[in-house]
Amino acid sequence: MTTSRSTSARNTALAGLLLAAATVVVAAQSSTPGFDSSKAWEHLRQQVAIGPRPSGTPANVKNRDYIKAQLAALGIKTVEQPFEGATPLGPVKMVNVIGTIAGKSPDRIVLASHFDTKLFRNVRFVGASDGASSTAALLEMARVMKARKDLPFTYELLFLDGEEAVIEWQGTDNTYGSRYYADNARKTGSLKSLKAFILLDMIGDRNLTIRRESNSARWLTDIVWATARKLGHREFMDEETTVEDDHIPFVKAGVPSLDIIDLDYPQWHTAQDTLDAVAAGSLQIVGDVLIASLPQIEARLLKQ
Ligand SMILES: [Zn+2]
Repeated sequence: MTTSRSTSARNTALAGLLLAAATVVVAAQSSTPGFDSSKAWEHLRQQVAIGPRPSGTPANVKNRDYIKAQLAALGIKTVEQPFEGATPLGPVKMVNVIGTIAGKSPDRIVLASHFDTKLFRNVRFVGASDGASSTAALLEMARVMKARKDLPFTYELLFLDGEEAVIEWQGTDNTYGSRYYADNARKTGSLKSLKAFILLDMIGDRNLTIRRESNSARWLTDIVWATARKLGHREFMDEETTVEDDHIPFVKAGVPSLDIIDLDYPQWHTAQDTLDAVAAGSLQIVGDVLIASLPQIEARLLKQ
C-alpha cells in the first residue's frame, strides 16, 4: 500500500476485490492445469525460427506441420481444411487446421488464430507477434483444454491460414481462411452448432495493451474484460477500438464473436516484429484471462 489514508470502507472493498480475484484463480486452477507461458514461448520461438511464413510457401507448410504435430502429441484429432485463396496475385493453396476436443455437447466454442505471416518482398518479416504469438498461445490453450475433464461444450482449436492481405488490406484481399471456414460451415449446416468464436491475434507485445473491439459481441467482451479486471490485468483497457480481422466472417454469420488483439504495436508489419519485441509474460496474461473467462462464457451459453 502506498497511501496512509485508506479508510476501512476502502479496505473492505479492496478485500472483496482480492477475494473475487482469488476465487477466479482458484476456480480456474481447480479444473485446469493452468496456462504455462514457457510452453507457449517455445511454440512462438519455433515458429519464428522457421522464418517468414506466407500462405502457399514451404515455410507455411512447415508451420502447419508443426501445429499438427503439437496437437497430435496432445492426443487431439486434427482435420485439414484445404482451399484455394483467390488472391490478386492469382490462386494460392491454403489450408486451415482444425483440432477438436469433444465435450458433453456437440455444440462448440471455437478458439482461433491465424498462422500465416504477411508477404513482404524486401523485408524479412517473421511475425513474432503477428502470427506466432496467438498461434503459440492457442497451442498451449489446446493442452489446457484437453486436460479439462468437465467440458460442457466441444472446443475447436482453429488455426487459420490466409489472414493477411497478399498486397493490401481491401476488398477480399484478406481473411481468406476465416471466410472459407464460415462459408463452408454455412453450407454444411455446422454453423448452427457454433455458439461462440474467440480470436487471438497479436498478443505478444511486451507492452501489452488490449482494447475492447467494437465489432465483437458485447457480452463476450464484458465477461473477458471483467475477468481481466478481477485478475488485476489492466492491460485489458476500457478504451474501445474497431478492428477488421478473422472474426468478421463469423460476426456476419451471426456467431457471437470476440477479437482479443493488441494492434497498438509499433513493430506491426515491420522487420522489427521479432523475438525481442514480444514477451512470454504477455502470453501468460492473455492465457490466464481466457482460461478464467471460459467457464463463465460456458455458463452463459448453457442458460440460452
Ligand atoms: Zn498482420
